[in-house]
Amino acid sequence: MALRLTPQMKQRVTRRTLEMLQRSLGYFPELKDAVITIGYTRKHLGSATVIYRKGELYRLIIRLRVRKVTYHTIGHELTHLVQGLAYGERFGTRSADPERIPTGETQCDIWTLARDPLFLDDPPTYIKMPRIMRQRWPDYAESVRELCIAAIDKRHTQRQYIRWLEQEIAQLAKTPTREKSSEAAQLLLPFVI
Ligand SMILES: [Zn+2]
Repeated sequence: MALRLTPQMKQRVTRRTLEMLQRSLGYFPELKDAVITIGYTRKHLGSATVIYRKGELYRLIIRLRVRKVTYHTIGHELTHLVQGLAYGERFGTRSADPERIPTGETQCDIWTLARDPLFLDDPPTYIKMPRIMRQRWPDYAESVRELCIAAIDKRHTQRQYIRWLEQEIAQLAKTPTREKSSEAAQLLLPFVI
């Protein structure tokens, strides 16, 4: 895979951002032969564009804010590129590939979290979750990822898999997290000794 930076991005990119991009791309074998244009945005966390001309893939672009960029945002935008590539392939095929990532923002979040724990460094934007989960995201991230993987497994048999996922996530917010239970264990320690 190759990265091409826009002039605007060249001025702003840091070594850290480049390393984050390269590391993230390692988890996207679908993009390994692609040339990806990396642009800069200050309006959003990020954006992604897949351009076709006359049915041919013409350009893959993601735009990122350099300041405080997260693996989660990079992963989310790369997932959009994979979604866009699948859209292009549809021109020539009739049957839907069951492994294809469906389009949509919530779907993009689900498949990004499921892809690798690397992309858990920030909560997702579009999956509905209780506020406490966003505030204490590191306590919940792994469990939410497991639910995303389970939801992806369910989608062939359960059309409402996103609703299922969001219900499970709401339930999870009501159950004690691992950190809470370790606090409880610490409180018990004086009695043990
Ligand atoms: Zn998005």
